[in-house]
Amino acid sequence: MNYLTKALCTLIITSTLTIIGGEQDYMSTAGKLWSAIGQSKAITLFRKNVHAPITKALLSPYLGTKKANKEYQKLGRQAQFALGIPEKDLVDVRYKTFRSFLPRTETAIATADAIYVDDYVLHQLPKDAWRTLMLHEAAHVKYNDDSMQALHNICAFGITAALLTRMHKNAFIKKHARLFSYPFAATTFTLSYLMNTKFKQFAERRADTAACYATQCANCVNSYGHHISKYNKNDMGYLTQHETDAIARELEKKQTYSCTYHKPL
Ligand SMILES: [Zn+2]
Ligand SMILES: [Zn+2]
Repeated sequence: MNYLTKALCTLIITSTLTIIGGEQDYMSTAGKLWSAIGQSKAITLFRKNVHAPITKALLSPYLGTKKANKEYQKLGRQAQFALGIPEKDLVDVRYKTFRSFLPRTETAIATADAIYVDDYVLHQLPKDAWRTLMLHEAAHVKYNDDSMQALHNICAFGITAALLTRMHKNAFIKKHARLFSYPFAATTFTLSYLMNTKFKQFAERRADTAACYATQCANCVNSYGHHISKYNKNDMGYLTQHETDAIARELEKKQTYSCTYHKPL
């Protein structure tokens, strides 16, 4: 199998999984397979060598280019290390200057090239909630979620293009190519919308769950649940406060770890 075939197979597998497995739990077999694809060498290489430079050139000037202060860098590194990301794959933390009308994106986002934090919004929240939030963003970095989403769009375009190429062998379609460009655009849009929505639900749920457990601290999870989950819409896959409370109770029982903000129970 050459590299192109491998890449195409990966795309087809991820797209299929995205469509059928969007609601899957991240510890299910489909969820684990998905995580394995996201963490694979091919996807990581794509993120670092292709997607990150493009993001840096096109999106970064819009989101924010200023490197965040030492406190954020330290928190970002700690979070990425806690999730097992190797040194060579770590990303910087930058200040997000762009304000979206979507409440959730006001806190922080992880793109292919950096973790962007909204300094103004974060200063309205307690520091222990920052820790869990940074772990959430680190989980997106770990599983290359931003690049996986970009690949879904490329894949949607690819599937539609392949279908259209086949259809073009038909003389009637060839003659009325303009007429078929509308369904082409509609199919691409629908496919990428479906893939992105389903994948985002899965990725946010996985990031929230991974972050809460990685804190090893019931208080950090409680703080995240109380202060951050109000920004999150559950239909986007985020854990509800009820669910973060359940994880906090679970951690409370076996808490032996002392985080920067709380002493062990
Ligand atoms: Zn997220
Ligand atoms: Zn804590």
